[in-house]
Amino acid sequence: MTSAAPGNTSEQTGQQGGSGSTIGGLTGAPSVSRAKELVARVVGGKDNAPVEMTAPFTGKPIVSLPQATDADARAVFDEARRAQRAWANTSIAERQRVLTRLMTLVLDRQQEGLDLVQVEAGKSRLDAFDEIAGTALAASYYGKYSARALGVKRRAGVFPVLTKTQELRHPKGVVGIISPWNYPLALTGLDVLPALAAGNAVVQKPDNQTALSALWLHELAEEAGLPRGVWQIVLGRGSVIGDAIVEESDYVAFTGSTATGKRLAGKIAERLTSFSLELGGKNPMIVLPDANVEKAATGAVAACFSSAGQLCVSVERIYVHETIREDFAAAFAAKAKELTLGAKLDYSAGMGSLTSADQLKTITEHVDDARAKGATVLAGGRARPDIGPLFYEPTVLTDVTPDMTPFAEETFGPVVSIYGYSDIDDAVQRANDTVYGLNASVWGSNGAHAREVAARIKAGTVNVNEGFAASFGSIDAPMGGMGDSGVGRRNGAEGILRFTEVQTVATQRGLKLRPFKGMPPRLWARSLTTGIKALRHLPR
Ligand code: NAP
Repeated sequence: MTSAAPGNTSEQTGQQGGSGSTIGGLTGAPSVSRAKELVARVVGGKDNAPVEMTAPFTGKPIVSLPQATDADARAVFDEARRAQRAWANTSIAERQRVLTRLMTLVLDRQQEGLDLVQVEAGKSRLDAFDEIAGTALAASYYGKYSARALGVKRRAGVFPVLTKTQELRHPKGVVGIISPWNYPLALTGLDVLPALAAGNAVVQKPDNQTALSALWLHELAEEAGLPRGVWQIVLGRGSVIGDAIVEESDYVAFTGSTATGKRLAGKIAERLTSFSLELGGKNPMIVLPDANVEKAATGAVAACFSSAGQLCVSVERIYVHETIREDFAAAFAAKAKELTLGAKLDYSAGMGSLTSADQLKTITEHVDDARAKGATVLAGGRARPDIGPLFYEPTVLTDVTPDMTPFAEETFGPVVSIYGYSDIDDAVQRANDTVYGLNASVWGSNGAHAREVAARIKAGTVNVNEGFAASFGSIDAPMGGMGDSGVGRRNGAEGILRFTEVQTVATQRGLKLRPFKGMPPRLWARSLTTGIKALRHLPR
């Protein structure tokens, strides 16, 4: 395994033009003054008990983040509510234009966005680019599609021709969005942009570890024409401002752990507010006997080690048919060992760092527990402080048994276990033997057969001959989890309609829905009975 410690290479040394030292002590990173400029965009709690962000690559400081109190957060909602009224009155077309301009800005200014994601999340630059691409795709998609989703729809009326029935979509009001640290830019884009497109204001609480990416997108959105106040970012600990978000929002979109999601869902339900939860996973991959071993092993590297495995849809369990298991395990372990670890702001590394000390602790515990109970480590299995304080090698395990922590628990890191199977029913049953149901992957040469297997897996998205990127990038299709992996979906029509209240307006002309004057009710009932039976012959 090759490696590169934090160094002097940068694609755009000095391009940020800021004065003073760079954030995280990384050469070529944005300046501290630029980071402070972004933090100044935060609305509530400007001076409270700041939290110091640190860069995973170096452990060095990035910038101080002010923290809101409960009262600060509630005041932010008041401002957002005022701004929302005017925003809801702008045309859908105008909101679409803002998103389309934003897409162009995100792509044109990507160097700074890539730097910020790398510095605060510790990702490789390629993984950071996935965030730029995901955000631009979301802006492009909702910039084009929201009019179709939100426009007034004609529905079949009770009496054909005489009843004109329409479905209208109204914004919810102020949407509260709680985001995690692992995809700070893309998950901001995928949730905030459709909420705005639907005419809502947004109050977003990013994770303190990775708040700069969201603030960067916020700056670009206002440059693209989003009126001030419509999207508010409030910084604070969930334990301090969580209640304010739950109690003040007209809709809550939460992304994070299943444990937090369940806690919040109980509180939100008490207020009869609607919500979506995008939670954890223990995602399986099935390699069918006719799969191309080389391609499946290459695909598994991306599926398991993108963003150092700190990706809700990344694969942590691989079931391989016994006829090819040894070949696959050897090819996959070799590729994992070849993956370059690095801490530079360029495209030289195949995998970046873990994001926090908590992550390093969890991953070390999972691997140590498996090793102590007899698992075989085919690749990786150790931290790499020589590269940076939070680096951990891409790790491939076999002989993992149910008593070992990584067998069923989400590791959320670069750790994957390989299991053999002989019977496809057994593989599907084991893939489904989990409380989660977020993402899955199936590999095989016969596409139709692989899709049949895919449809039997209990997961919100299943990728055939891909790990996660095919469904993740298909913004037109819903994405989300079954079981403990969540409630509701982001992306596609569901991704924007969840942020609306639906209303039916039915206009009756001519015939009234009661007996005509002088008509005996029995005759009315009989006529209607005949009419309802005849309805089935009408084209829909
Ligand atoms: P987490 O601990 O649940 O935190 C997620 C967010 O919730 C953070 O911003 C956190 O802020 C906030 N939070 C925590 N307690 C809160 C409360 N009582 N009220 C309001 N907000 C609260 O999750 P995580 O460990 O950071 O994220 C990793 C997990 O997210 C993994 O399980 C992963 O699978 C899942 N995930 C799922 C998806 C998906 O789309 N399904 C995507 C990405 C990640 P504080 O830390 O400040 O409290």
